[in-house]
Amino acid sequence: MQFVNEQITPEAQALHRESLVIDTHADSIQCVLEGRRLGVRSDQGQFDLPRALEGGISAEFTAIYLRTPRAGAVHQAVQFVDALHQEVEAFPNMALQATRADDILRAKQEGKVALVLTMEGAEGLEGDLRSLRVFHRLGLRSLGLTWNWRNEAADGVDEIRTGGGLTQFGVSLVKECNHLGILLDMAHLSPAGVRDVLELSEAPVIVTHANCAALCPHPRNLTDTQLEAVASKGGVVGVTAVPRFLGEEESRCPLSLLLDHIDHMVKVVGEDSVGMGTDFDGVGENRVVGLEDASKMPSLTAGLLQRGYSPERIRKILGGNFLRVFRQVVG
Ligand SMILES: [Zn+2]
Repeated sequence: MQFVNEQITPEAQALHRESLVIDTHADSIQCVLEGRRLGVRSDQGQFDLPRALEGGISAEFTAIYLRTPRAGAVHQAVQFVDALHQEVEAFPNMALQATRADDILRAKQEGKVALVLTMEGAEGLEGDLRSLRVFHRLGLRSLGLTWNWRNEAADGVDEIRTGGGLTQFGVSLVKECNHLGILLDMAHLSPAGVRDVLELSEAPVIVTHANCAALCPHPRNLTDTQLEAVASKGGVVGVTAVPRFLGEEESRCPLSLLLDHIDHMVKVVGEDSVGMGTDFDGVGENRVVGLEDASKMPSLTAGLLQRGYSPERIRKILGGNFLRVFRQVVG
């Protein structure tokens, strides 16, 4: 199926507009640090508030991600937090910072985008639980333990030679996140780490951006067994719009491929554990055709309708499932 935006039916538009749309991963704060403003529509990158509002996005998880963590990582992370706070303050008509599930609903009601502060890799904590507690007070509501490498908390997916999972600090982090009400995100985590978190966490866990290994055997993707384990704890996995995790690295990646991953995930874990985590502003230049930036989110609804998904199922995948787990874990 070659699906393009012009084919979005009035029915799909209406369903998309009334739905809560939660996208669980974007690297847009990095773009702010590099000079872009979230409140100003840009033709650079993929996410800003005008494009998000056009695309009907109710909530966006925006990550602290330290490319070159080193001594002073807490200070680097603070710069991300400040950038997010500054953007929310500068554009109050378009954004609010969400720290509770009700904030996401309020953003939807008020026609704004709820920005959720997340951390992708625990590097920014410098191995200290006190940093986690302070970032929580600043609004941190989701923590990915690793990016692809080894850090103080655990091994990432590119560090699997030794078969390592969580460190002792990682175990403490899981417990403290459970205690504070911070979502644990297993995207980028090594298979042993995933096993550890699933075993240790008393709360449902999420994977903010990953796809199905059964369709694309990339180490960043989840096996059916892992998907089932996340679902059995009441968690949700965000299907991600990264062509190389969908199985199309070289040429144009059709939206149908992303829909195939949603189909597979729904088949394996059911409709209550699947969501969306695009990785806007982290994808690079090769993008899913039809979902090139935040303004194109209605294509997803149109594509799911075309595949015969009921409106109820579509609302769960677009945001209902992540809202449920957010309310349960964060409050
Ligand atoms: Zn990532």
